Amino acid sequence: MDVSYILDQLNDAQRDAVTADSPGTLVLAGAGSGKTRVLVHRIAWKIKVEGLSPYSIMAVTFTNKAAREMRGRIEELLGSSLQGGMWVGTFHGLAHRLLKAHAREAGLPENFQILDSDDQLRLMKRIHRELQLDDSRWPPRQSCYFINGHKDEGRRSAHIDDPGGDLYLQTMLKVYRRYEEICQQQGVIDFAELLLRALELWRDNPAVLAHYQQRFKHVLVDEFQDTNAVQYAWLRILAGNGMPITAVGDDDQSIYGWRGARIENIQQFSKDFADTRIIRLEQNYRSTGTILSAANAVIKNNSQRLGKELWTSGEDGEPITLFAAFNEQDEARFVTDRIDELLRQDYRRADIGILYRSNAQSRVLEEALIRSGQPYRIYGGQRFYDRLEIKNALAYLRLIALRDDDTAMERVINTPTRGIGNRTVEMLREYARDHQLSLWQSAMAMIQNGALTARAGNALRGFLSLVEDLAEQCSDQSLDEQVDLVIDKAGLIAFHQKEKGEKGQARIENLQELVSAARSFTPEDPDADLLREFLDQAALDAGEQQADEHEDSIQLMTLHSAKGLEFPIVFMVGVEENLFPHKMSMDDPARLEEERRLAYVGITRAEQQLFLSYAESRRLHGQENFNSLSRFIREIPNDLINEVRINNTVTRPSSFASGNIAAQAAADCGIALGQRVLHSFFGAGTVLSFEGQGASARVQVNFEDEGSKWLVLQYANLELL
Ligand code: ATP
Ligand code: MG
Repeated sequence: MDVSYILDQLNDAQRDAVTADSPGTLVLAGAGSGKTRVLVHRIAWKIKVEGLSPYSIMAVTFTNKAAREMRGRIEELLGSSLQGGMWVGTFHGLAHRLLKAHAREAGLPENFQILDSDDQLRLMKRIHRELQLDDSRWPPRQSCYFINGHKDEGRRSAHIDDPGGDLYLQTMLKVYRRYEEICQQQGVIDFAELLLRALELWRDNPAVLAHYQQRFKHVLVDEFQDTNAVQYAWLRILAGNGMPITAVGDDDQSIYGWRGARIENIQQFSKDFADTRIIRLEQNYRSTGTILSAANAVIKNNSQRLGKELWTSGEDGEPITLFAAFNEQDEARFVTDRIDELLRQDYRRADIGILYRSNAQSRVLEEALIRSGQPYRIYGGQRFYDRLEIKNALAYLRLIALRDDDTAMERVINTPTRGIGNRTVEMLREYARDHQLSLWQSAMAMIQNGALTARAGNALRGFLSLVEDLAEQCSDQSLDEQVDLVIDKAGLIAFHQKEKGEKGQARIENLQELVSAARSFTPEDPDADLLREFLDQAALDAGEQQADEHEDSIQLMTLHSAKGLEFPIVFMVGVEENLFPHKMSMDDPARLEEERRLAYVGITRAEQQLFLSYAESRRLHGQENFNSLSRFIREIPNDLINEVRINNTVTRPSSFASGNIAAQAAADCGIALGQRVLHSFFGAGTVLSFEGQGASARVQVNFEDEGSKWLVLQYANLELL
């Protein structure tokens, strides 16, 4: 049997890794060096050459998409179908499969259900009500966070030490216990529980474990650097007794520390799995020499590294393009213009990835793509106008515009929670049906004729007057002030503030981003009601179907979701201090290093061309920020970068009089060269020059304390001195 084709397209080190017969094999290598490829070929090798049955192989990938791809590639190599016999999937997917097969031993009903994070929160609210915990003091989200965090570390309520007099811990523990009880009664399990249950199943049922230890002859794990404590323990319990295990990973790409991933698992591996062979791959096959040098130059600034250098035999390729945008709109325009150009060459849309640090950045990009008619897909996330917090905010605005909007009313009548229970809502619906009224009208009628209990009536009255008050206050405000008012006064910001961790923060950022969207909104019909127009536009944007999986579309995603993927063309947008690195990580060296690893992940996604962009002034989360270029990009040697401005006709003072549009606009504001001005943020300074036009017109000011800065004229808000 000729199996050379399995090894043909591999280098020596990769071949070594594919054919290694050590019990433990750890492939430790940088991005694009073929780790995932090694896993695929190793599986094919095991099946074709060593004669293992697909049935006896388990492979763990980081996403379901990666699992599908891996399966496809193995089948390609084997020339035959795996027919589901092989276990390929994420930790969560495999745990689910295991628990379904052994529900009884795992102490679960046969038809147990998975509780997603929204369900979990809803259940938590119920528990808080039952335990009479005041939501403002004891945010339900915080309880979810507490429980998930402990489960990720393998701790059940019974494992938590007696909290003594600590009221916070006492309360959390009480909630945790009750939560466990109810989940057990209802037969539901959350995401963290899936993993923990699967671990306990094997730990507490020797017969079940023995079955799998006999069944599996080899376990393989991709993206090993991002495994958490429970996942690692699960692998160890299965394979710790000498079952061959192969893990591939890159310490430089560990980016989920904030979610419990433990980089230390890499060092632990050779201690826990006997006779581990460590194999390093150093040749990169993905990126051009230039892109790779940039990635190496960035990551070398991290101190906590196992240390490795990547090289490529490929060409240097194009220099990296760095675009200094005036603002976020200008940045988005740069991206879509370049995309148009690329598509006129030989690229397909799917060859292009746009990566950003935080979800809220997608909005401006999405709008620009919609405007330029480019289908796009947001990978591993939702489109801006589909997000829960945005829909909530829009629902309030819709009610303000039209009280009879039942869908909007249903959505926010009890969000944030204000004591209007399902029963009341059900009564409203019934009344509305019987009397052919809207929910709003029904609510008014039912309050008037005393059809509700005093408590329900009060809660409902509170909601109606909140909306009326908001409408009143909004009446003489600009659109962005209206949005700002609503997200604040309706309690949406406070609602998400209680949610701990990145998620709540991200939702708040998205809400603030909606304020930005309102501020820069220009209606098609200037005479129309602005709020209505805005809501219509948002509804259209939300209704615009996400390009389906098979349609050729531009790929948008956060840097986190891009791990493991590759694109011929990558745009990394928003490479600015405070945005990337994220401002929350600025003061913590360990988190800063995690951000740098994220930059490394981003850069190394690019095969042929990398475009970086930053905005000198950025409206994000409803605020205007002036950030400088990201330190990570400053770590890239200058000779690898080609810096461009679309409008590179910087106006020198002498050309001021010659009809320059920025200068004209500035003159209209009474600003002249040499004019002394005051900026609320930067203080006093002197105007140096102007450039650009229209919404991009900018003015350069030399501030006494802050040095020289370019400001977008339209938003600069300069006071003449
Ligand atoms: P990451 O760390 O980003 O997950 P990786 O180490 O898993 O990267 P792969 O995705 O396996 O790297 O490989 C990167 C690219 O290089 C892929 O397109 C792969 O097909 C290609 N490649 C890997 N090894 C070789 C080789 N020996 N010859 C040709 N192409 C290769
Ligand atoms: Mg990979």
